[in-house]
Amino acid sequence: MKIGVIGGGQLGRMLALAGTPLGMNFAFLDPAPDACAAPLGEHLRADYGDQDHLRQLADEVDLVTFEFESVPAETVAFLSQFVPVYPSADALRIARDRWFEKSMFKDLGVPTPTFADIQSQADLDAAVASIGLPAVLKTRTLGYDGKGQKVLRSAADVAGTFAELGSVPCLLEGFVPFTGEVSLIAVRARDGETRFYPLVHNTHETGILRLSVASTAHPLQGLAEDYAGRVLEKLDYVGVLAFEFFEVDGGLKANEIAPRVHNSGHWTIEGAECSQFENHLRAVAGLPLGSTAKVGESAMLNFIGEVPSVAQVAAIDDCHLHHYGKAFKVGRKVGHATVRSADRATLQRQIAEVQALIEG
Ligand code: AMP
Repeated sequence: MKIGVIGGGQLGRMLALAGTPLGMNFAFLDPAPDACAAPLGEHLRADYGDQDHLRQLADEVDLVTFEFESVPAETVAFLSQFVPVYPSADALRIARDRWFEKSMFKDLGVPTPTFADIQSQADLDAAVASIGLPAVLKTRTLGYDGKGQKVLRSAADVAGTFAELGSVPCLLEGFVPFTGEVSLIAVRARDGETRFYPLVHNTHETGILRLSVASTAHPLQGLAEDYAGRVLEKLDYVGVLAFEFFEVDGGLKANEIAPRVHNSGHWTIEGAECSQFENHLRAVAGLPLGSTAKVGESAMLNFIGEVPSVAQVAAIDDCHLHHYGKAFKVGRKVGHATVRSADRATLQRQIAEVQALIEG
């Protein structure tokens, strides 16, 4: 089976690494000459709106999936005429736009921060008056890793801020005084079967994920699965869908969804019986889903900007390096490591050892 992937970054690369043993081949559509997934399949180097290359992709593959959600809607609509596309155009349309996403949470009774649609500075001023400060202004689309957003704490932060974010449609959200951030990686098959990985506790710095620790019997697991299940059903979703939640007042507020494999699920490559990457491919290909059970304690640490020496990472017990083969650049995700252990105390020591390499 040949899978077409829109985007050729590290998520595409890890999809190919998971799918190759299943007998799958891959073609990546990505305009970047140095797309890091390219060595693992065919690289169609073209813009996402290039209809000739989209048609070529559709003719060559059995189905198309995505490794990022900011794909133009027209690209998805065009491809869908010729080849099955998972997740669907409708799921992408909702997940890529914070207004549609949060409106869906509200309709489904999934708690989410108070929010307002912002089309102008006047809208922002009015929304700040009703939601109050602090609040967070985010572009409706194309934001990632803390980009395209600003925390507003005082009147001075509000003045001129709509223009500062590019005068594009935005969302104002009430600031959530969360005690933690957790994510739930879910997978839904073509026949509707749904499975969930254990909740992951995430730590961000400067808007970028640094550390994900898979939980054991998290008290909010059932609640998270209930909320995620409503969304998966509503979207008639096929594939992996990641949910990011704020932990607040002993409950959860949904922050956002990502219609793809997710950074906070990378630990599943070594830490779960079947990884998020393999399960995404199983789902879109119409295969039975694999087990989402953990195989021990595990955590994932991102390498931002550069990857430490391979020898030093390999010297840490049960530590698994993933070097994405990307050029090193400040603020860029260029690799990660997963540490595994039978117990939490050892896991904490392994995390500290990797952190020491990152800081060194
Ligand atoms: P996002 O791009 O929406 O995932 O936001 C990036 C990070 O900003 C989140 O992981 C939180 O740490 C923080 N953040 C986003 N929205 C809020 C909010 N409404 N209240 C408090 N912190 C937020």
